[in-house]
Amino acid sequence: MAATALSISRGAIPSVNDWRDQIRVWDRGVRHVGLDFERSWGAVGTTVGTGRSPRIGRGDRFRKGRVRRGTAAEARTDCKSEASLGDVPINFRYGKMLREVSSWGIGGPAKLFVEVTTPSEMATVLRYCTSHDLRWFVVGKGSNCLFDDRGFDGCIILNRIDFLENLGMGRYRVGSGYAFNMLGVQCSREGYSGLEFAGGIPGTVGGAVYMNAGADGQETGDVVQNVEIVTTRGVSCSLSRDAGELKFEYRTSPFQKMRDSAVIVAATFELQPSPDSRQRQRMYLERRKRTQPVSERSAGCVFRNPGAGCQSAGALIEQAGLKGAAIGGARISEKHANFLINGGGSKSHDMQALIALVKEQVHKKFGLWLEDEVLYIPYSHDN
Ligand SMILES: Cc1cc2nc3c(=O)[nH]c(=O)nc-3n(C[C@H](O)[C@H](O)[C@H](O)COP(=O)(O)OP(=O)(O)OC[C@H]3O[C@@H](n4cnc5c(N)ncnc54)[C@H](O)[C@@H]3O)c2cc1C
Repeated sequence: MAATALSISRGAIPSVNDWRDQIRVWDRGVRHVGLDFERSWGAVGTTVGTGRSPRIGRGDRFRKGRVRRGTAAEARTDCKSEASLGDVPINFRYGKMLREVSSWGIGGPAKLFVEVTTPSEMATVLRYCTSHDLRWFVVGKGSNCLFDDRGFDGCIILNRIDFLENLGMGRYRVGSGYAFNMLGVQCSREGYSGLEFAGGIPGTVGGAVYMNAGADGQETGDVVQNVEIVTTRGVSCSLSRDAGELKFEYRTSPFQKMRDSAVIVAATFELQPSPDSRQRQRMYLERRKRTQPVSERSAGCVFRNPGAGCQSAGALIEQAGLKGAAIGGARISEKHANFLINGGGSKSHDMQALIALVKEQVHKKFGLWLEDEVLYIPYSHDN
């Protein structure tokens, strides 16, 4: 089958509620990234759940242990050509403690856990989970996630697609697993403006695009030109700002509607030249260190700011007299009241109880309910 570049811009632009239908259209399209499941993974299903690490892939490179980390050129080939789709080695692990992949340091064991370094590997894993009716969740740096004490009853996919390609003139194509703070520092150092705020955000590019992370009057969505995704059936698609396909709002992106259907594998940013960018980036970082508990275990701001005409969530929590309040190992930071800290040994249920307490107290005093910015990842569909 000839490789066909699919882009949403070829058809009608879906409203956010139509994303699932649009993804089904792409999947029928179809340009698959990764091996055909039936052809290459049949044996894998038999090893899942046996207690041994299941392994996907038939490539010699894998057997000889010559697996490399993704590079820009390699990742691009993976996305755009079917010729190189033969080797997609995947190793699953059992029982990985999710506290190890969460900035809060909270979370029990994942039933299955896998690290991916290329879009092909991502496609392979997604298709595996889909075919085995296995619940999955993709994690970047876990800096906006609260995992459950019981862990996760499906497959946690740790994204390490971490290439960086400088396209010149302030354009950067970046793997979704690349560290967002490193990107912010690098672009600013090279004299480009738009991602200075990112220097202090400890997530990945994929997590930043998904959350539309922002600070200091800047937002990720303002400078994203193009986002490459892979769907659960292994189809690769590209969404572009020019075609009107990327609409971001405060901490909201179109990818939140595609949560169970697609994963971001790369993004292209377009920045503006600015002689002051590095200075600004440093200033933002310095201010962050002064005003936020950056050396403690947190997930950044736990609550969204209520919006125009209202004080920030942090100010409301502080005025409700909650700074320093604690439940178990979870505590409200003295430095910034919208930061909830794992002071050591906090369980997920401590943190959830503290979040609930803050909401109740703020509602009691100000008559409004704060909304979560952090994401709680339940153990199973049932809880
Ligand atoms: C000290 C500290 C300071 C922070 N400051 C800020 C700030 O100033 N502004 C701000 O907005 N946030 C801030 N955060 C929160 C957090 O860093 C951001 O939301 C960040 O963008 C999350 O990235 P991540 O890779 O850690 O995502 P994760 O926490 O791993 O995931 C968050 C969500 O994104 C999804 N996701 C991740 N990668 C992908 C992908 N490749 N494709 C599809 N979905 C994906 C996950 O499934 C999950 O739903 C801060 C956090 C900390 C700990």
